[in-house]
Amino acid sequence: MPVEPALVVSRAQVIARGVRCHCPNCGKRGLLATWFHLNKACAGCGMDLAKSHGFYSGTTSIGYVAAILFVLIPDFVLVSAKVIGVTAGILLGMAGSFAFIVLIYPAMLCWMVMAYHVALPGELPANGGGRGEE
Ligand SMILES: [Zn+2]
Repeated sequence: MPVEPALVVSRAQVIARGVRCHCPNCGKRGLLATWFHLNKACAGCGMDLAKSHGFYSGTTSIGYVAAILFVLIPDFVLVSAKVIGVTAGILLGMAGSFAFIVLIYPAMLCWMVMAYHVALPGELPANGGGRGEE
């Protein structure tokens, strides 16, 4: 089958791969070097991930918002409803936010990579991106 010159990898494919933390370009699990760091390049296809400084700052913002939504607000509700005491609520809020961000950190990194390539699918090497400077 001939390959379409426009978009070899569609936005839908980028999302389907991204939510599972797979590389948006090749679909392999090559994005993460460690729990907290992306590889410099994808382990599967070698796509450059070093341009991804913005992914880390984006991750921090998502992390704060996510911790407020999913940890602190439920925590405040529990304290307000006197389900748990104030001291327990404070401890739960601090430990919970920290644990939550650590837990979802790799997913946030992958999702920042995904969001970037959903916005700019032409940047993927499979779609003809990354061939020299503009
Ligand atoms: Zn790849």
